[in-house]
Amino acid sequence: MFLLKLLKKTNKKFACVTELTHVCPSLKTKDRNIPITFRTHKNAKNLRLRLSKDFTEVIITLPPKTPINVVTDFLSRCELWAASLSLPLPKKVFFEEGAKIPVLGKVRVLHFKNDLKVNFVLEQDKLLVHEKLRHDIGAIKLFLKQLAYEYLSKKTHEYSNILNVRCRSITLKNYISRWGSCSSKGDLTYSWRLVFAPLYVVDYLCAHEVAHLKEMNHSPNFWSCVSLLIPDYKLCRSWLKAHGSTLFLYGPDE
Ligand SMILES: [Zn+2]
Repeated sequence: MFLLKLLKKTNKKFACVTELTHVCPSLKTKDRNIPITFRTHKNAKNLRLRLSKDFTEVIITLPPKTPINVVTDFLSRCELWAASLSLPLPKKVFFEEGAKIPVLGKVRVLHFKNDLKVNFVLEQDKLLVHEKLRHDIGAIKLFLKQLAYEYLSKKTHEYSNILNVRCRSITLKNYISRWGSCSSKGDLTYSWRLVFAPLYVVDYLCAHEVAHLKEMNHSPNFWSCVSLLIPDYKLCRSWLKAHGSTLFLYGPDE
């Protein structure tokens, strides 16, 4: 199955991580689809598969210049192995001391501190929250929502300028079954949970909604607007398909 898809898509001799992610974003276990992250490692001698500690993803490492037929053979065996596997569901990550939360493309460890002069500080690898807000989940969510809003607004305006379209307003919502929308009047809405997604995926979502300001459909013209802004947008769509549900693991359910 993988071999056919790959051969149709490529005439290259060696496997490419980007293409693999697109063609084979996840493995099907007994209970669910588990997303795959492909990596190459210069010291790897053989193809390797491992499960992440929290069972949220499968990591496949490839030696450089691995021939495509070797990869497809390996993936077929992985497919058989995964089909008989029953994995515990990934656990929710609550806003608690020590929680690892991806915020705007970087994993940050949540710490509550007494001696902060402000309520929140976002550092490279930490999210510091004042001790008095330890039980105020709403306030932490609001802070993350503001971060998402700032980033989404910046990208939306950047892309609107490139496509020469006008966005009337930007709103963030608790979407369950979609990541964004665009009204005919030019009002864009995004899911606040995008704050937990990699930035290239957030950029794609902005590009997608902004492209709707030009083309209110999913026609070839629409997709060429998207690819003008994000040339490898297919990779971002694959990420959302495979990993999108993980954005609901963080914080409160609503
Ligand atoms: Zn759309």
